[in-house]
Amino acid sequence: AEFDTLDIVVLGVILLGTIAYFTKGTLWGITKDPYANAFANANGAKAGRSRNILEKMDETGKNCVIFYGSQTGTAEDYASRLAKEGKSRFGLETMVADLEEYDFDNLDAMPSDKVAMFILATYGEGEPTDNAVEFYEFITGDDVSFSEGSDPALQNLNYVAFGLGNNTYEHYNSMVRNVDKALQKLGANRIGEAGEGDDGAGTMEEDFLAWKDPMWAALAEKMGLEEREAVYEPTFGIVDRENLTVDSPEVYLGEPNKMHLEGTAKGPFNSHNPYIAPIAESRELFSAKDRNCIHMDVDINGCNLSYQTGDHIAIWPTNSGDEVDRFLDIIGLKEKRNNVISIKALEPTAKVPFPTPTTYDAIVRYHLEICAPVSRQFVATLAAFAPNDEVKAEMARLGSDKEYFHSKTGPHFYNIARLLDTVGKGEKWTNIPFSAFIEGLNKLQPRYYSISSSSLVQPKKISITAVIESQAIPGRKDPFRGVATNYLFALKQKQNGDPNPSPFGKTYALNGPRNKFDGIHVPVHVRHSNFKLPSDPAKPVIMVGPGTGVAPFRGFIQERAKQAQNGATVGRTILFFGCRKRSEDFLYESEWEEYKKALGDSLEIVTAFSRESSKKVYVQHRLKERSKEIGELLSQKAYFYVCGDAAHMAREVNTVLAQIIAESRGVSETKGEEIVKNMRAANQYQEDVW
Ligand code: FAD
Repeated sequence: AEFDTLDIVVLGVILLGTIAYFTKGTLWGITKDPYANAFANANGAKAGRSRNILEKMDETGKNCVIFYGSQTGTAEDYASRLAKEGKSRFGLETMVADLEEYDFDNLDAMPSDKVAMFILATYGEGEPTDNAVEFYEFITGDDVSFSEGSDPALQNLNYVAFGLGNNTYEHYNSMVRNVDKALQKLGANRIGEAGEGDDGAGTMEEDFLAWKDPMWAALAEKMGLEEREAVYEPTFGIVDRENLTVDSPEVYLGEPNKMHLEGTAKGPFNSHNPYIAPIAESRELFSAKDRNCIHMDVDINGCNLSYQTGDHIAIWPTNSGDEVDRFLDIIGLKEKRNNVISIKALEPTAKVPFPTPTTYDAIVRYHLEICAPVSRQFVATLAAFAPNDEVKAEMARLGSDKEYFHSKTGPHFYNIARLLDTVGKGEKWTNIPFSAFIEGLNKLQPRYYSISSSSLVQPKKISITAVIESQAIPGRKDPFRGVATNYLFALKQKQNGDPNPSPFGKTYALNGPRNKFDGIHVPVHVRHSNFKLPSDPAKPVIMVGPGTGVAPFRGFIQERAKQAQNGATVGRTILFFGCRKRSEDFLYESEWEEYKKALGDSLEIVTAFSRESSKKVYVQHRLKERSKEIGELLSQKAYFYVCGDAAHMAREVNTVLAQIIAESRGVSETKGEEIVKNMRAANQYQEDVW
């Protein structure tokens, strides 16, 4: 059936193209390529698009809008999946909407035969994601006002809510909780429970799946929907562009947007538009044989990017060649990898997540998260396209049986290609419409790194400290290797002329599309953070940063050393650092000596080496040993910082700190915890954890 649809699309697109040709594109602003999707400017060509969601729904005949607040793409992915499922199972006319792209003051005019879904991730310290800031401020604001002025304002609004959070953070799922509360207060009607997914417990996907079924049941009842047998319908049509080749100048080979394609890339550089930055220097920081950690200096001289000490840099990775090959091979597209295709959304509100015309190779290498864990729901979707009935039954079982799925896939770190290969026993999966991958896989996400330099010392050179992700998998020859860090590692190898540029059998298109990254470049943008030194350098600071958690503190200490050199009075500066062994992974050991020259005894590095003696010593033990001094410094209004592992370390440090405060002030531990909470609220306690 999907071929019929494709045929229709191709005809439709040709028809559109013909009209565009005869009208010279003036009807809808197409100038060159009638098949191309926009990405015209850095911000996704939003100019002229209506911000009125009701108008948009009416124009496109929708009765269900799924808003998402997403930072790393998961919430966006869930929103798309709900849209797809609502359509195929219940015949809902669904659309997905980026919260950033609409106004909300007319939500009160949404009729009661429609429904709005809110899929909201909580970011960092209980903050909204970048694209949800305005919505969040609007809906939770004290003076929220709507167009109609009825009372209660949102009495007609039916909504559904799911949150993505992490229970290791203090403000667990605060976005969905606060928005749900605000909507209730405004009189809106929630359908089903407000779901909460927990990344901290590693159950996000299962929490989502467990939430959505009762939600659908409640929604079907409320809206009188009838469930039907779900049939897969592609969201995107693939159009072969036989007249184009990889040498045609209008073909995207991995360039993120039109400016990059045309060689006119300019700022603002942001999450839609990376700066292709030269790497000034890169080196290995560990002396252990089996583990790697790199230091990298990214040069932002050639652009108007800037940063402040404590900010984050985003690295835009590319997938490794071996994984690109594995993926294209298993779905039978290896031979067609360089064919030029255009991708068209088959329904008006769907957005193609990357620019076209492009090639399969470029899509898989630069735009799809092909190495990530596979979602159980996606496995269920793919069952229909299995190479034979036996494999189909196995896929269906994996897709529907939670325990079975986790026991079969959990220990293996399968990505989609490895899973298809294993379940299909090596058979190729040539029946899967390519659209299913665009819908079912996440967009390849930039990875964030805490900047490990000071903007006072090196305003145009951003340092990164990254440990290379590698995990041995029982029963598999090659270990699991992380996407971005192994890409950075390969860049480091190349830059240093290492004899073995792909020591782990990983190869990368390091020169980028059309050699645009040649000369050791990496695409980046900068994200502002609230993790900041006190404005008065005389204030004491206590920093806890084991492992790569030390990254922002290298920046902090660099900055305070410079301030001291400039004649400022700099307060006590203590860093608690932990690693396995002094001789293996003591990061920046020699640099600390340099900073001591400027800061004198006010700088102290307290170390905890976990594998040097039979008793494992961690930073929190060292903190306890220093209880008295820490208590005193805190009473002098010292700032307390924690960076690194969110799941264990940051929690334990939090607990120990409450104990220290309780002891030094002679209060109960509960009171100590309350004081830590107040310190957080006053920014005197800050976390940068992941
Ligand atoms: P990925 O490929 O993204 O894998 C990451 C993890 O996901 C794996 O370890 C594994 O647990 C899981 N995973 C991925 N694929 C699979 C699969 N198929 N099956 C099962 N599990 C899978 N890191 C630093 O080293 N230094 C820093 O200074 C730093 N700062 C950060 C600051 C912030 C604000 C944030 C959010 C993160 C920071 N990180 C930092 C972490 C960094 O962003 C990356 O997450 C990390 O480098 C791993 O990226 P990767 O692409 O190499 O690994």
